[in-house]
Amino acid sequence: MTRTLESDGFGTLAVHAGQEADPVTGAIMTPIYQTSTYVQDGVDAPRQGNVYARVSNPTRSALEANLAALEGGAYGAAFASGLAATEAILKESVSAGDHVVCGENVYGGTDRMFRTVWERFGVEFSFVDTANLDELREAVTAATRLVHIETPTNPLMRLADIAACAEIAHEAGALRSVDNTFATPYLQRPLELGADIVMHSTTKYLNGHSDVIGGACVVNDEGLIEELRYQQKATGGVPGPMDCWLVLRGTKTLHLRMATHCASAARIAEHLEEHPAVQRVFYPGLPSHPQHELARRQMNDFGGMISIEMGSAERAERFVTRTRLFALAESLGGVESLVSVPVAMTHASVPEERRRKIGLTPGLVRLSVGVESSDDLLADLDQALSDL
Ligand code: PLP
Repeated sequence: MTRTLESDGFGTLAVHAGQEADPVTGAIMTPIYQTSTYVQDGVDAPRQGNVYARVSNPTRSALEANLAALEGGAYGAAFASGLAATEAILKESVSAGDHVVCGENVYGGTDRMFRTVWERFGVEFSFVDTANLDELREAVTAATRLVHIETPTNPLMRLADIAACAEIAHEAGALRSVDNTFATPYLQRPLELGADIVMHSTTKYLNGHSDVIGGACVVNDEGLIEELRYQQKATGGVPGPMDCWLVLRGTKTLHLRMATHCASAARIAEHLEEHPAVQRVFYPGLPSHPQHELARRQMNDFGGMISIEMGSAERAERFVTRTRLFALAESLGGVESLVSVPVAMTHASVPEERRRKIGLTPGLVRLSVGVESSDDLLADLDQALSDL
């Protein structure tokens, strides 16, 4: 674990970065600039640089600056969803005939978009185990323009060595993007490890309250942010000001929430590992996790997501319908605990053959550990596991 979060002022950035008191009213909170357009003083004379809200909005700009600061990057670009953010990366980096290497275990919707939408436009994808650097190296070709990785992965909690993957992509002249949704910048900052673009589903931990769909990219390179802003303007997948404001409110407490998510998840993972009704626990903070050493090196803590193997679809379904505090629902990263069966829910679109290769079984259950009292969460899991 390399940084201490206290020493690098993460909490101060979370609360303040990108935000100043409103110049008109003095309001301490960034206003929700609920407008579609801006009055100009002449045909070529916008008042404060704003012309039309698809192109720019001050609430969105505050969020973009806040996210950039948290990721240790120079620029942010907010999008209407995590998938819109991922798609913006593709739109700025690939054309027909180009090749993309993607982790074989990424969020099911990312995989679905690549295979069912982008392959139709003549972009080729290779899905590889990004934990295996030889496999990654072999997959990269002269046509590879982008290497997209997720770490920890959804839902198998596999890790990719960001610095090593970035080096391989860099040598091949490909852009390196990292989906940092599970970890958040509280736990790892991919730009510092050699990534060109870090992207998020802000729907999850960054917003943290399960009331927004949103996405974002953060970069250091001026050319890349110009391209991403061009995608906001030219293809339009932007978030509204109310949603930007909600995410901005969420990031103010990211460090507090993440500390609790991590502490509770660690306690729960250890407990479940000893539980006779659970066959296997996937959590990077457990010494039994095959990449625990990499997790210790690359992350500040181990996050709030845990997956468990229940052995069969029937046992998984019985368990997830018996929990009371853990609500059965898709999504993750909110203050409330959620439970899901990825094969039947978030990852239903992943082809059977790939599921088998990566070990995504019908009995796998994913837990998003919220910030409720961990005693209550443990009691809930125990009652749901009893006599299963
Ligand atoms: N990336 C990860 C890791 C996710 O878990 C998700 C959604 O679950 C996404 C991207 C897509 O984000 P959104 O649902 O905001 O489009």
